[in-house]
Amino acid sequence: MSKFKSYHCSVCGAVYQPHEVTYTCPKDGGNLDVLLDYDAINKSLSPDKLIASREFSIWRYLPLLPVEDPGCYGTPLRSVGWTPLYQPVALAEELGLAHLWLKDDGRNPTASFKDRASAIMIARAREIKAEVVVTASTGNAGAALAGMAAAANHKAVIFAPKTAPPAKVAQLLVFGARVFLVDGNYDQAFDLTILAAQEFGWYCRNTGYNPFTAEGKKTAAFEIWEQVIYAGNLEKPLNVFVSVGDGNIISGMHKGFKDLQALGWLKYMPRLFGIQAEGSAAIANAFNKRNEEINPVKANTLADSISVDLPRDGLRALRAATQTDGSYITVSDNEILAAIARLGKEGIFAEPAASTAYAGLAKAVKEGIILPDDPVLVMITGSGLKDVKAAINSIQPAPIIEPTLEALKKALK
Ligand SMILES: *Cc1c(COP(=O)(O)O)cnc(C)c1O
Ligand SMILES: [Zn+2]
Repeated sequence: MSKFKSYHCSVCGAVYQPHEVTYTCPKDGGNLDVLLDYDAINKSLSPDKLIASREFSIWRYLPLLPVEDPGCYGTPLRSVGWTPLYQPVALAEELGLAHLWLKDDGRNPTASFKDRASAIMIARAREIKAEVVVTASTGNAGAALAGMAAAANHKAVIFAPKTAPPAKVAQLLVFGARVFLVDGNYDQAFDLTILAAQEFGWYCRNTGYNPFTAEGKKTAAFEIWEQVIYAGNLEKPLNVFVSVGDGNIISGMHKGFKDLQALGWLKYMPRLFGIQAEGSAAIANAFNKRNEEINPVKANTLADSISVDLPRDGLRALRAATQTDGSYITVSDNEILAAIARLGKEGIFAEPAASTAYAGLAKAVKEGIILPDDPVLVMITGSGLKDVKAAINSIQPAPIIEPTLEALKKALK
């Protein structure tokens, strides 16, 4: 695998050969960045060649990924990514923005952004001949791994907190995973998963632990570059809004933009804005203190996908904002619910952790952090069907009426 050169520890900077480590830095537990051979890639690939690809999924970026082609043609594994991009005119006008895009990753095979990471993980699992894959998850990462594992005929074991929304748990079970609902929170499920993987020799997908998840998530940055930045010939940095829990989506997207920069294909590094729920804001707290030390919180938010005590990819997630002139913004659960309703009026159904990114944009505009001519893209990371209870709480209930025209007329008043 010539394009995959080495791993680089995000804490101490140590460099490891691909066969030397599997998960985190043996010295300090730091997350590992995958280093690619950019010269070799540039010799065989150009933006125009990439853009001409007829593979409309994350697999169009295979030359920029540290895995080989997993095959699995004709399965959901091949349809991850290349998600729709919208330009909501009325919403842009309401916010007073000249350029606004929404990218709907709820349109992935298992209905969340997590498919990007899980698809790459399965490709890696095939290479290292790992039969059983395992992850801790608040729901979406597990559903994504279970779905991709089913598509590729691998066995999946998923640990989720017993409070995970029923629709997410149903997905895990329908995909045929072995599911354990942990009587504890996500952080406890996370630690148990690592112990179990060690004990039973399972290949562990945990976010902010396995270096390949960020490599999958970076494909969203590649798509944004192709669909918005390169296509539109943007002459200023794009402002990208992403919701943040463990911090692996934002750090993965940062990695993707850094790859493009290293290849010389990116004129302006996008500014990355991480949005956290007020009740789960460990990274935003560190950002506000201008400190790289991330202290755990007692997470409490209805946005379950970003409810995290100790972010597992906090350091790189923090740097995604500090190194791109971005920022961290927190929003309340009420703002998150209001954002579900507002996105719904554009025909977009978002789960709470996905509407969080939009709630952050609304706040950034109000506070003058984003100016009218700043181009903005909001990542919608998961579908509203994932958490129906939250969706119902975001709107007024429908009236129940007698089946008569009279009753209807009365209700219409
Ligand atoms: C996982 C997830 C996030 C947050 O990603 P992190 O890598 O944990 O920061 C945001 N939105 C949705 C829908 C998710 O499933
Ligand atoms: Zn290290």
